[in-house]
Amino acid sequence: MTDSKKMYINGEWIEAESGETQEVINPATGESVGSVSFGDSRDAAKAIAAADAAFKSWAQATARERSKYLNNLYELVRTHRDELAGIICAEMGKPLREAKGEVLGAADNFMWYAEEAKRVYGETVPSTIPNKRIMVTKHPVGVVAAITPWNFPVNMVARKIAPALAAGCTVVLKPAEGTPLSAIRLFELIEQAGFPKGVVNLVIGNPESIGKEFTDNKKVRKIAFTGSTRVGKLLMEGAAKTVKRVSLELGGHAPFIVFDDADLDAAVTGLFESKFFNSGQMCICTNRLYVHESVVEEFTNKLVERLTKAKVGDGRNMDTEIGPLVNENGLNKVLDHIDDARERGGNIVYGGNRLTDGEYSKGFYCEPTVITDVTPDMKIYTEETFGPVVPILTFKEEAEVVELANDTDYGLAAYVYTQNNSRCFRMSEALEYGIVGINDGSPTQTQAPFGGFKESGIGREGGRYALEEFLEIKFVSFGL
Ligand code: ADP
Repeated sequence: MTDSKKMYINGEWIEAESGETQEVINPATGESVGSVSFGDSRDAAKAIAAADAAFKSWAQATARERSKYLNNLYELVRTHRDELAGIICAEMGKPLREAKGEVLGAADNFMWYAEEAKRVYGETVPSTIPNKRIMVTKHPVGVVAAITPWNFPVNMVARKIAPALAAGCTVVLKPAEGTPLSAIRLFELIEQAGFPKGVVNLVIGNPESIGKEFTDNKKVRKIAFTGSTRVGKLLMEGAAKTVKRVSLELGGHAPFIVFDDADLDAAVTGLFESKFFNSGQMCICTNRLYVHESVVEEFTNKLVERLTKAKVGDGRNMDTEIGPLVNENGLNKVLDHIDDARERGGNIVYGGNRLTDGEYSKGFYCEPTVITDVTPDMKIYTEETFGPVVPILTFKEEAEVVELANDTDYGLAAYVYTQNNSRCFRMSEALEYGIVGINDGSPTQTQAPFGGFKESGIGREGGRYALEEFLEIKFVSFGL
């Protein structure tokens, strides 16, 4: 117990009420990399009370003052980039070179919202009644409960807490069970940045118990969540009891469309980014590839050639491009999707198996895999695979592929490769997705809105759009 890392509540590092702890496992080696306090609703209630007590003065602080703390944090996160990246790599297997990029992305959020905090403008609106004046002002929503997933364990935290704090909200964060160590290190930097006590709190532990406290506690005014659609729906249902606001960034099933007029080399590069980054464990990952029938053979050959050069391995090696899956369950799901496709007539043209020899023997590794002859009855066609598997389908007509691409309950990201300008516009307008990459396999930036249509979510992260998610609008009517 003494070696276990603690939670950060009201400016202090404390153990879970229950006294329980949890081990964190490195998916590249199967070995423990540390242990943490494992809390429940009691710890969450304490953290919410602290955030509530801190809210008034934080909300009343000038934007410039809030900015100062966010800027401190930006500097600290940048300075500790390699250390944070090392923790991410150890607790969830992300290749170091990607993890370093993730940490810089997180730092960028703190810097960007430090600036944007100063631009929460109100408005005056012309009145139709001569002796009245309309003033519109913006105010922080209150205490925010944030829940983050394991796939971007530092940046997902930054994307929620940076705009929330900039807006004047106080926060209680629950990171994913698998990745608490990077969150703890980030909170040590938050403490060092000098934020007043209670403004940012960290609880770690039982998701159901903590989640229920988040939804049921009246002091929480907003839930910000990234994770599965299943849990997002649960939280939305729970939030209804006290009409809390929600921002939900949920699952996806991204189509990636390659037209016959595409630059096929650029399309392969874009697909590699969108499919194999983070070992395919991203909600904006390509999950269905539609290639025009006249170029499918050439495209598939180029893709397979690229994959033969991809280095799979322990993320600590700087030449690793594809790391292990996050845990055994994650690996089993990917292998199940491959087996299901195989049984239903899919043709595995590359990979298709777990890697078990030598350096792979203890980790959760899957070969990068390409499957052709994919049909809609396969799991891989409708479920999120979250792994390094590319299912390839073909199409003939633009209208046909638009219909196929939109035929899903999800609507997060979609990708299109074509060199025809008119088609670029037509496709960007026709796709029912919150994010469309046109000749771009990696469409995310701090200042751009990130979020989905349909069951992929509600609200947006990123840019000024995220700040609005943490602000209430007040209308003041002046009688003269
Ligand atoms: P994934 O499949 O990516 O792990 P989850 O939705 O299960 O997605 O997890 C995302 C986050 O949601 C994690 O922090 C997890 O602990 C949390 N979570 C899981 N179940 C619940 C729940 N019932 N209530 C609140 N949070 C939950």
